[in-house]
Amino acid sequence: MSEAKKIPYKIYLEENEMPKYWYNMRADMKNKPAPLLNPGTLQPMTAQELSAVFCDELVKQELDNDTREYSIPQEILDFYKMYRPSPLVRAYCLEKKLQTPAKIYYKFEGNNTSGSHKLNSAIAQAYYAKQQGLKGVTTETGAGQWGTALSMACSYFELDCKVYMVKVSYEQKPFRREVMRTYGASVVPSPSDTTEVGRKILAKYPGTTGSLGCAISEAVEVALGNPGYRYVLGSVLNQVLLHQSVIGMETKIAMDKYGIKPDIIIGCAGGGSNLGGLIAPFMGEKLRGEADYQIIAIEPASCPSLTRGKFAYDFCDTGMVCPMAKMYTLGSGFIPAPNHAGGLRYHGMSSTLSQLYHDGYMEARSVEQTKVFQAAEEFARVEGILPAPESSHAIRAAIDEALKCKETGEEKTILFGLTGTGYFDMVAYEKFHDGLMTDYIPTDEELQKSFDTLPKV
Ligand SMILES: *Cc1c(COP(=O)(O)O)cnc(C)c1O
Repeated sequence: MSEAKKIPYKIYLEENEMPKYWYNMRADMKNKPAPLLNPGTLQPMTAQELSAVFCDELVKQELDNDTREYSIPQEILDFYKMYRPSPLVRAYCLEKKLQTPAKIYYKFEGNNTSGSHKLNSAIAQAYYAKQQGLKGVTTETGAGQWGTALSMACSYFELDCKVYMVKVSYEQKPFRREVMRTYGASVVPSPSDTTEVGRKILAKYPGTTGSLGCAISEAVEVALGNPGYRYVLGSVLNQVLLHQSVIGMETKIAMDKYGIKPDIIIGCAGGGSNLGGLIAPFMGEKLRGEADYQIIAIEPASCPSLTRGKFAYDFCDTGMVCPMAKMYTLGSGFIPAPNHAGGLRYHGMSSTLSQLYHDGYMEARSVEQTKVFQAAEEFARVEGILPAPESSHAIRAAIDEALKCKETGEEKTILFGLTGTGYFDMVAYEKFHDGLMTDYIPTDEELQKSFDTLPKV
């Protein structure tokens, strides 16, 4: 590349350059992710069984390990055009501040009202529900980003949306809740007395502030009990990674346009959807032996499913009503210590990413909360964006890699996913600024207790 063609601060694609299809990594994996199992029979879930819970087209996508490309329906493309392409930003200012020879790029997914990448899958899932003639959908939300994205998508397609919100977030993030209600969703704090599983959990753990696993059980029960409703999930599932591949596809097209090849690709990992989406086309090249990339998943030290979990079949929810998935897991009973990166508190990891990690196609690291917020602040002060705590896990690792380059003089190209903005997380920022933030790392004994509850499959 000639010096004259300087890389712009922000690389946007033209409308006609945007991806027209989602890419399914599973098609190129030699070892496919293990199938979901029926917890009663321990047999792989059939499409028919799954279609009681999920929309038909989404069941097809979930089970399809072979189709490489899925055309994005025109209605979804039209919605994407309202907030996509998302910018791929060259972090010139951060590079300068760090005095690193590394080149740092981030793909910014916070430029929509939901404030995160989750809208990419929410709009797809709402579209298929509408196509099927459903009345509405149910879901859970932890930190609130998924619930917000889904409420927006449901209001666009005029679907009813029932959100079970983890009680502690419901109480601590009233503004998130009101955004969802603005988009017409009903929001119930979980566990609640509106479901059988909720009442059971309340009886067993009075005063509990809830967990994602618990809210999932409630949302699934409501979907099963109401004709014309299905359950939708914002991460972990194969279908969600498929929709999120739009992030990586756009990134790849933009990088190819300027002849840029990343050496290192970094993403935060909760259930694995943004990371799975960002790396998709790059991982595809790696799986096919066409190119190599160092791919790193970053998780909180307080909820370390990849770095300290077991690769085993486990329940996806607390009430054990969902199918079982083979994944890196801390055990479905694991309740992480209070952690401000609410979106990274799930006990398991996408079975696709778990398999790729198990087979050595990617690495994983865990980082402590205060170090994450140090990175968030350092980034915010020069790049202008107020990052979500979840995203800041990736920022931490990108900065660390850039500082290594400063030591060695290597000019590596680093790409990371900046999944969202942190405006609803100011209580966490406040704790950090006031020096009240703590780092909790679970002990081996604590993890063992939770591993002991893994189903024997
Ligand atoms: C939900 C969320 C995450 C984590 O979820 P993944 O499925 O692992 O991507 C990360 N960042 C933001 C901003 C989120 O809302």
